[in-house]
Amino acid sequence: MIKLHDKYFKPFLSEEQILEAVKSIAQKVADDYKDEIPVFVGVLNGSFMFVADFLKEYKYNCEVSFIKLSSYQGLTSTGIVETLLDVPDNLEGKSVIILEDIIDSGRTLKELVHLFNKTNVKEYKIASLFYKSEVYNGEYAIDYVGIDIPDKFIVGYGLDYDELGRNLREVYQLKQKHMINLVLFGKPGAGKGTQAE
Ligand code: 5GP
Ligand code: MG
Ligand code: MG
Repeated sequence: MIKLHDKYFKPFLSEEQILEAVKSIAQKVADDYKDEIPVFVGVLNGSFMFVADFLKEYKYNCEVSFIKLSSYQGLTSTGIVETLLDVPDNLEGKSVIILEDIIDSGRTLKELVHLFNKTNVKEYKIASLFYKSEVYNGEYAIDYVGIDIPDKFIVGYGLDYDELGRNLREVYQLKQKHMINLVLFGKPGAGKGTQAE
């Protein structure tokens, strides 16, 4: 068990399980894109570790770029997605694969779709390492998914709790007794929070 700020987290996914999921996404993307030069666009901050390991598994020519969005504050999604670093401007005619750390409510994905629909890319696809199918609004198809996880707050492997935990190699899950507090005093997704992603 680990403690970050005031909360306790228990081990949830091992480094091996995560890397296996990353490898499987990289293989599927390679099957689809090895004959062209795709641009992988990581969504900062949460996806930086996924992007690094993904690229180590992706053995074909590719380009890499980043955008930065923020919607989560503390343990909850704010509902407002801010663009902090905009879509790269040299994507004309290219195939883009957006690399997301996690898809939860789908609000960030909606903003990504909005941003990329305005570009002149050849096409764009979405890959997400983690996916909370129980709470995803299902508005858009997710093209490549790593691991479907329950609707519980996780940290590690790039994902933070108020900026702590991003450096962990494994993924940890918020301890249940704190989830009870959240349900009683402020449901995740209800729009409260303390600090930007
Ligand atoms: P959505 O907009 O789909 O509700 O949430 C997407 C973003 O919220 C993710 O890119 C991630 O930054 C953050 N997020 C969603 N679920 C979690 C979680 O369980 N743990 C952490 N640390 N961040 C999350
Ligand atoms: Mg993200
Ligand atoms: Mg965050």
